[in-house]
Amino acid sequence: MSKFKKLVAAAFFPEHCPYCGDVVSVGKCACEKCGREFPETIRECSAVGGYLCTAPFSYTGIFAESVKSFKFRGHREYAEKLAEQINRAVSEAYKDISFDYITCVPMHKNQLKERGYNQSKLLGKKLSEITDIPYRDLLIKHKENLPQHTLSGLEKRDNVKGVYKALNTDIIKGHNILVIDDIITTGHTLGECCRILRKAGAKKICCATVCAKIIT
Ligand SMILES: [Zn+2]
Repeated sequence: MSKFKKLVAAAFFPEHCPYCGDVVSVGKCACEKCGREFPETIRECSAVGGYLCTAPFSYTGIFAESVKSFKFRGHREYAEKLAEQINRAVSEAYKDISFDYITCVPMHKNQLKERGYNQSKLLGKKLSEITDIPYRDLLIKHKENLPQHTLSGLEKRDNVKGVYKALNTDIIKGHNILVIDDIITTGHTLGECCRILRKAGAKKICCATVCAKIIT
């Protein structure tokens, strides 16, 4: 969108800070108060299987609240500003990697019907617009499981086994793929997605999220 169109749009639909909900000026990534809380360094950790993951924020305070509003309270419009922050982390952590495709952790169709949108896909598509790296759905969740946050350590590992399948294997093979999710906690979900992509022949696989709970 042009700067002019953005200004006109903002007059009718003001932009909000995704971390506190206050109105922000056009093009600002956050309000001044929240901007001051941005950490200076990005987070780097690994999903299960040793796949690298980067995130601009830890899963605490205003950043955790932002993800919850985006995911559970219908604030899908936060996708753009959150994707800009993922891009900041990706540009730094993976500056030497050239990705062929961006994809996301998929949701089961029943879950999608309930929420109305896949927050990780919204992030992936916005990141694609920012970076010009094409977005593709490369995974499908074909089995329903329990939400990971309701389970304990070992249960989380077993809960994600075999719930994903590869889609479009012809474009996975031999390519570098960036997998997007909203948050990484134990790394089991992203690890399982990476395992499936690896099995389908992906070359380099990395992950990025808005918040990271595990630091290694
Ligand atoms: Zn704010």
